[in-house]
Amino acid sequence: MIEIESVSKWYESFRVLSDCTTAVGRGEVVVVCGPSGSGKSTLIKCVNGLEPYQEGRILVEGVEVGAKGTNLPELRAGIGMVFQHFELYPHLSVLENITLAQRQVLKRSKAEADERGRALLARVGLAEKERQMPADLSGGQQQRVAIARALALDPKAMLFDEPTSALDPEMIHEVLAVMSELAAEGMTMMVVTHEMGFARRVANRVVFMDEGRIVEDVETEAFFTAPESERGRDFLSKIL
Ligand code: ATP
Ligand code: MG
Repeated sequence: MIEIESVSKWYESFRVLSDCTTAVGRGEVVVVCGPSGSGKSTLIKCVNGLEPYQEGRILVEGVEVGAKGTNLPELRAGIGMVFQHFELYPHLSVLENITLAQRQVLKRSKAEADERGRALLARVGLAEKERQMPADLSGGQQQRVAIARALALDPKAMLFDEPTSALDPEMIHEVLAVMSELAAEGMTMMVVTHEMGFARRVANRVVFMDEGRIVEDVETEAFFTAPESERGRDFLSKIL
C-alpha cells in the first residue's frame, strides 16, 4: 500500500531524512516513534506529498508520490491526514467541516455528503454535535471531528501525526479509542505517536527513527521486549 524506498531529504544542506526504507501493507498499522527532531513528521508528510524528497521513491498503491506526472491533489484525497492541531475550519459548523471536501473534491450532493457526515459523526461519538462550531468543542471532540473529516473522503490509508499530543490526558483516551476501532476495521494506518500503550496494543510494527534514519523496523512485541538498538533501548527507558 505504502512503500518507502531509500528516501533521503535535505533542507538546504541539512539532511533531515537519510536512506529511509519501510513499507505499510494493506490493513497494517505502523507506529513511527523516536526523539524530537528525528524526522517523523517529515517522513509522513513526504508520503502524501506535503514535503518533497530528493532521493529514493515513495509509492502509494503503486503511484510514485514524487514523480513529475503524479496528480498530488488526487493522491492526497485518497490519504487521510490528521495532525496534532486539529485545524478544523473555525467558521464552519462541525457537519460543514465534514461535508466541504466531500462536495468540492468528490462532487457529492449536499444530501449525500450530509448523510455520510452524520454517519461518521455517530461513529466518532459526536452525533449530537453537528450544529456546533469547532471552538465550542473540547480538544478531544475537535480531534474526533478531524478524524471524521478525513474519513469522509473514503481514504485508502490514514496518516496521523501526534494526534493526541496537544490533548489533556482525559481526552487522549477517546481519540485513541476511535483510532483503535479504525485499526480493527482494517484501515491502513501510519501513526506518529508517543502513546506507547496504544502502539503496543494496536500496531503491527514499530518504526523507530533517530537523526533522520530508520533505526528499527520490527514487529511490535519485538520492539517493546528487545529493541535492537542502543538508541531504541534508551528511548524506551525514558518513555515507558
Ligand atoms: P517532533 O517529535 O518534535 O515532532 P519530528 O521527529 O517530527 O520531531 P521533524 O519535524 O520531522 O521531526 O523535523 C526533523 C528535523 O528537520 C528537525 O531537526 C527540524 O528542525 C528540521 N526541520 C523541520 N522542518 C524544517 C524546515 N521547514 N526547514 C528546515 N529544517 C526543518
Ligand atoms: Mg513531529
